[in-house]
Amino acid sequence: MRITDVKLLGTSFDCADHGGHSHRWAFLQLETDEGLTGVGEWSCSLGGIALVAKTLQLLRADLVGEDANDIERLWHKMYRHYFSLGPRGVVTAAISSVDIALWDIKGKALNRPVYDLLGGRVRDRVLLYSHPQAGTPEEVAEDSVKQVAEGWTALKTDPFRSEVRKRMGVGPGFEIRYMEGALSAEAEETAEAVVRAMREAVGPKIEILIDAHGNFNVPTAVRLARRLTPYKLTWFEEPCPPESFDALRQIRESVEVPICVGERLFTRFDFVPIFRDRLADYIMPDVVLTGGISELKKIATMAESYYIPVSPHNPPGGPVQVTAAAHVMMTVPNFYRQEFARNYLDAHNSVITPALDIRNGCLFLSNRPGLGVELDTDFIKAHPDPDWC
Ligand SMILES: [Mg+2]
Repeated sequence: MRITDVKLLGTSFDCADHGGHSHRWAFLQLETDEGLTGVGEWSCSLGGIALVAKTLQLLRADLVGEDANDIERLWHKMYRHYFSLGPRGVVTAAISSVDIALWDIKGKALNRPVYDLLGGRVRDRVLLYSHPQAGTPEEVAEDSVKQVAEGWTALKTDPFRSEVRKRMGVGPGFEIRYMEGALSAEAEETAEAVVRAMREAVGPKIEILIDAHGNFNVPTAVRLARRLTPYKLTWFEEPCPPESFDALRQIRESVEVPICVGERLFTRFDFVPIFRDRLADYIMPDVVLTGGISELKKIATMAESYYIPVSPHNPPGGPVQVTAAAHVMMTVPNFYRQEFARNYLDAHNSVITPALDIRNGCLFLSNRPGLGVELDTDFIKAHPDPDWC
């Protein structure tokens, strides 16, 4: 079964879902000479999509004519393509989308869901956590209560980011980048108010996760983690930028709150020091950034041998990312929860068929062959991404 074409599809649209959100997602269709088409995704934020699109256009010559059955060999062929520059980030995102599409094709060819090809099920549903709408402490608390009433049992927020945006003059977008790594006393006060309001609103049994988005220097991260510890956090995510494992170690040795990292770590190799040096309590690899279904399964198995739970990253990814990660988690014993923004559900369902089956804070996968979802190409083509389409 030979690969005959690699098609790239990008979409950008506003969805009048809960709170109203803009979405920018990028998908791949891998076509074969047996008429089977696999879908993949490489959504990532802040201009990354256009970079990965260019890389996929360059990798196309390596893929057309290849045997679509040879997932592992093609993974390594793409991974070693950029010999001098290295394959982290942009290239592993490109590889991820191809790898996901190849697993979709293999499932369709064998008439089995992807989770069956990865060892079979260890669970019948994938437990999720969600995000309350960002905003003032009162707004975050109000949306948290709404989501708990729908059956969500764990919620994550970044209580620092509105202040970061304001200070940088970048408006309401998701524009956070490390510079000096500090936060004003007023912003720390606001962050604690957000977390306190959430905890008081949802009570002691709902899990609360805090995402620092890698924005802080060591003393700031330590101070914030200690300040928020009384609110019984499940984890404090990416306390510092992802490049320095030494900084992460210093933070980890100074705080009691559990640490989660991994959405900006690429391939199993980046996770080696995390496990070896005991730098995190949870990991959150992203299936469309770290190397696809093949790599997520390998990273999860490595984590299993250290008794570290895996919790795949989601936003800003789209529904193919959600589904691909969920297929792996159906087969992984050491699973915590998968990330999902409940308020993006309508947007996810705008670009795929059938709709995601989400009930009581869980995603249910069907037993359809492959990933079990197809792109709504009419919708996607009607809402092209102006950045690169
Ligand atoms: Mg995060």
